[in-house]
Amino acid sequence: MNKPAMPNSFRTGPDEQGMFGIFGGRFVAETLMPLILDLEEQWNKAKNDPEFKAELQNLSTHYAGRPSKLYFAEGLTKHLGGAKVYFKREDLNHTGSHKINNCLGQILLAKRMGKKRIIAETGAGQHGVASATVAARFGYPCVVYMGATDVARQSPNVFRMKLLGAEVRPVTAGHGTLKDAMNEALRDWVTNVEDTYYLIGTAAGPHPYPELVRDFQSVIGSEARAQMLEQEGRLPDVIIAAVGGGSNAIGLFHPFLDDKDVRIIGIEAGGRGLDGVEHCASMNAGKPGVLHGNRTYLLQNADGQILDGHSISAGLDYPGVGPEHSWLRDSGRVQYEPILDDEALEAFQLTTRVEGIIPALESAHAIAHAMKIVPKMDKDQLVIVNLSGRGDKDVHTVAKMLGMEI
Ligand SMILES: *Cc1c(COP(=O)(O)O)cnc(C)c1O
Repeated sequence: MNKPAMPNSFRTGPDEQGMFGIFGGRFVAETLMPLILDLEEQWNKAKNDPEFKAELQNLSTHYAGRPSKLYFAEGLTKHLGGAKVYFKREDLNHTGSHKINNCLGQILLAKRMGKKRIIAETGAGQHGVASATVAARFGYPCVVYMGATDVARQSPNVFRMKLLGAEVRPVTAGHGTLKDAMNEALRDWVTNVEDTYYLIGTAAGPHPYPELVRDFQSVIGSEARAQMLEQEGRLPDVIIAAVGGGSNAIGLFHPFLDDKDVRIIGIEAGGRGLDGVEHCASMNAGKPGVLHGNRTYLLQNADGQILDGHSISAGLDYPGVGPEHSWLRDSGRVQYEPILDDEALEAFQLTTRVEGIIPALESAHAIAHAMKIVPKMDKDQLVIVNLSGRGDKDVHTVAKMLGMEI
């Protein structure tokens, strides 16, 4: 395939139409168009408003716990015997992952726009919990759409959302997973255009969501870049993050995109291998198509039907990927690699044993890739792995995989 021309900067997208090259855009129903345009306009105003920035900064510090630390993972570094490994500690945020960064930003946007009601979609429930959290904090009614299959297999998160005052609506369409929940949330939005704010959980969906979610998550990379300069006096050689929809990854990557000497690697869920359909590696094994309002790489069969995919890690279990990643893939700026369930499981256990940190299974995918490349690197080289979340939520899955009873 032809590579698109290399731009002078990888940090200027998307264009006016919300396109990153041939990816992105806003493929939505007519009725949603005015809302999408309004959201874009309000976002453009908000992001340059000192008052909005100050309120977000204040909440990020005192409610979410930012800045998150850049931690030298000495135990893992010794074990691997190569480059120095650092973890960006998003696991230490309130609610246990990077998702709060985006939810705080969007709830302030909803407030500014005078919305009265929050809707969100969730797969494993992590984004549902983060949305219910900020809705509780700001006193909004919140409806979370969740596939019926996911409701059944993620009962602790369903209970958390209920405790936080949210209503969880199970979606039985399709296979009852994240893709179906997202469709249902978009449908709700079309019917309740006036008073409802749709809080999307990853850097996907119609423009301007991929851009605004990226901007809220870019705090990860901005902090990490400054912290590395302060702690080591130079930029890292490699940065790595796991890619579900792609929000924690683009958040880490974006501030580094124009640092030519920094190698950037996104990790997709390789599941049980890329030969079959039991994976979620849309950029390594998918094809471009349109889903949830944007054009991007998707898992699809020969007829263009969207596949459900599989990953040991529920947060990576999304059949698409944010459009900016598709563009970064085709332009060659970012390399995307798959990691198998078993490899992630091994990284999960190793990190727990040598660091005393239980990583989310999503983050364990990124660590697993570090385990492959770090031993081959020089001891004076530097690697940052985004520790997108903590793994307490995953202990049941891991016990089951290891054939143990809790
Ligand atoms: C949701 C989640 C992910 C995947 O979502 P992205 O939008 O790709 O970041 C990764 N890690 C954790 C801990 C999550 O909760």
